[in-house]
Formats: sequence, structure tokens, C-alpha cells
Amino acid sequence: MLSNLYGSLPIFAQNWACSWAGYKRSRQRFTPYFWRTLSAWEESGNGSLAPLHALQYERLRSLVERARIYVPHYRDMDLPPAAERSDPWDAIRETLSSFPVLEKAHYRETPERFLAEDIPRSRMIRGKTSGTTGTALPLWYTAEALAEEYATIWRMRRREGVDFRDWYQAFGGQIIVPFKQEAPPFYRLNRPGRQFLHSLYHMAPENMGAYVDAVHNLPASYIIGYPSSLHLVGRAMLERGRPIPRGRLKGIFTSSESLLAFHKETIEEAFGARIYDRYGTSEFAVSMTMCAAGRLHVDMEFGIVEVDVQESGDGWERGPLLVTGLGNDATPFIRYRIGDLGTRLTSPCSCGREGDVFADVDGRIEDFVVTPDGRRIGRLDHIFKDLLDIAEAQILQDTEAAIDVLIVPRESYNRAAEERLLREMRSRLGDSIKIDIREVESIPREPNGKFRAVRSRVGKQS
Ligand SMILES: [Zn+2]
Repeated sequence: MLSNLYGSLPIFAQNWACSWAGYKRSRQRFTPYFWRTLSAWEESGNGSLAPLHALQYERLRSLVERARIYVPHYRDMDLPPAAERSDPWDAIRETLSSFPVLEKAHYRETPERFLAEDIPRSRMIRGKTSGTTGTALPLWYTAEALAEEYATIWRMRRREGVDFRDWYQAFGGQIIVPFKQEAPPFYRLNRPGRQFLHSLYHMAPENMGAYVDAVHNLPASYIIGYPSSLHLVGRAMLERGRPIPRGRLKGIFTSSESLLAFHKETIEEAFGARIYDRYGTSEFAVSMTMCAAGRLHVDMEFGIVEVDVQESGDGWERGPLLVTGLGNDATPFIRYRIGDLGTRLTSPCSCGREGDVFADVDGRIEDFVVTPDGRRIGRLDHIFKDLLDIAEAQILQDTEAAIDVLIVPRESYNRAAEERLLREMRSRLGDSIKIDIREVESIPREPNGKFRAVRSRVGKQS
């Protein structure tokens, strides 16, 4: 998006460019398959558990059948067909238990062996996994898998009264405002998407007033974004005594990061609306959406979630999640250890909806990088998602003046890849911060076994 050409355009022309990109994206998103799926799932999502299990079983059976025939990884394992039982839930459990757990490391070795041969390559879209190691792996999906994911997102929004014609403001990771721009506006317009996109790369203390003004002055029925960014803006709103009056917004929809308790409190107070968080992954293997009771409901039409239980107590059990995507037809993930931990409730949610429900999922918590001019920049791990020549990467920061970037290079890593990495960093962090790239053999994990892409002494999330 931020080509040199885009960066040199006047703001009104950048708005056109964002609108054009938004138009193209909405054409890809709102397909007939999307509308059919949304309408079917709005019905099944409000129904009882037995038909949901029956639907899950039907989808699982066809996935297993295809995997056994058309997916080399599974074909070579010589697995039995899906189990037949009168109770679909028994059949699901028995079918899954015949599959070994799929570890990320296994996928990393041979991702091509997970490609389904019955889907023409022309229908496959190349994506990237969310790495547990700060980096990403290639991944393929179809337009239908994407549509199903959007169906889960829109089902959640529509439950809270959001309409497709509503305007909204987004705090996502797109670079839509050039780093060098020093004066507001720090947002751009996507007119066909009815969306104002705020930059996450200009959040310096002296700019926060402009963000607060924009949040108040731009039209919005709801807000979407990363919890860490919304928290920064929310704090600025409260510090200035300018929260949004309760009732004006229909909801705040967060995703992509762990929603921490202090995030939730500040954001809900500042924006005057309830938060609805979503847990999803780029593998199209799982989706959970929050209800008004603050619980994460598994979107059961989209995937099956098992918990590899390590701890349990009265009414809950906790452990690593094993996910089976029912919609990812291009690269099937069956019992995939996604790398996140979750706490499942063993009794139904107080909101009254049936199905699997979680109290929390620990996704990723990353620090901010702070630039010499005081901007707090989150989600820098996104940079590494586009750089497949790097196996693992971590950003370390002790002072505002500099960062160290540790990388574990792949064989394909070379001078050009390093320059690409530097360019990506500069477009988000500007030219004044010192960047030292260091090649290392490995990067240590946190005591809980999780990988942290950004560790900053000056940009702690708290
Ligand atoms: Zn609920």
C-alpha cells in the first residue's frame, strides 16, 4: 500500500487510493457464498446443540474423506474413514481420536504436503500462518474459507445491531499515513467501505489530542481494532476528560491480540460501549466470538476446538488448544496445536446460547516499540509475516534511541532480504531510530513456553 507513489500523493488522493483498495476488498468479501453462509449460520447459531453437532459431523466427515484421498500428508498416514455413530458428538470424538495431534513444527517442514489436490491452484489464495516464532509460513486458502470467516465476524456484529451500511472507525495495522507526516489528520477514508482508518504509527504524546478529536468528529456506529492501540487512544480520551457518551456506539470489536483486563476496562469506559473480542487465526481453523456476557463462544460451524487439558477445576478446564478447521478446504488442519492456551467452561454460558464456550484464550502479548520522537508502535511482528527468508525474529529495545533485531535466517536469506527487512522497519519506525540487525542461531522462549516478538523496556504494555 505505501509505495513511494502513494506516499507522495496529497491527502485527498490518498483517500481515493484507500477507497479504491476498499472497493476491491469488499468485492472479494461480499460474495454470494458469503451471504448464503451468513444467513445459514445466523440460523444455526441461535439453535440448539444437537443440530450444531450434526452439522459439525457432516463437515468433519467430508473433510476427513477429502484429506484421506487428496492431501498427501494425511493420505500417507493411512487413516480410517470417519466413524459412524448414532450420536454425532460420539462420532466426532471417535473420528478425531484416530488422528494424531498435528504440531506446528510438522507443518513447517513440508507445508506443500498439506495442499489438497482436488482444488485447482487457480482457486487457491496464498496467505501466511501466524507464526509462534515471530515469523510466518506459507499457507493456502480459498475464497470460500475467507467468506466463512467473514460470516463469523458479521454474525457477531449483527447480533449487536451493527448493519452493513453503518460507518465505522478502524485501528488496524495498515500503513495508510506516511511516517513523515507530522500534522493531523492521522487517518484516511475508505468511502465504499464506510470506514475511517486510523494510523497506528503516529501515536506520539503530542499527537494524541488529534486522535481524540478524530474519534469524536468522524462518523461511527462502531469501532474495530487491536486492543493495545484502542487502549492508547482510550487512555488519551480519559486523560482529557473526553469519553464518548454511553449508548452512542453499538460496540467495540477487537481482535488479533490478547484482550487484557486493563485494556477492557479503559476501552469500555472511554468509548462508552461494550467490547466484543474475537479469537481467530490465519489458518482459518478456529473462530471464537464474544457474547454480551463476556465469554468467547466457539463458532462451531467453522471449526472444532479440543482442549489438551493440563489443569481443571470446578466448572472449567485449561490447556493448549487443538483446532480442526471445518472450512479450510485448501490446507486442512486437523487437530492442529495452534500454540495458544484456553480455559473452557464446562457449563453453559449465562447468555443462554448453546455450544462450546471459553472464559479466555491467551494469544499474544507484545510490547510497543517507542521511537525517538515518542511514538508507541505496536504489532511490529507483522513485518516478519511478509518475510519468508527469516525463520525466527525478535525485536529488543532498551532505550528510545535504538532497537536490536535478532533474526534466525533461513537459507534463502541474503543481502536483498536484509534490505527488504530494513525498508519495512523504516516505513513504520522512521529514519531516526538506530536499527541493528543481528543474525543468531536461536531465540529463547518465555518461561511459559511462548514466543515474544517484541520485548521493550521502554514500551511495556501496562
Ligand atoms: Zn454467552
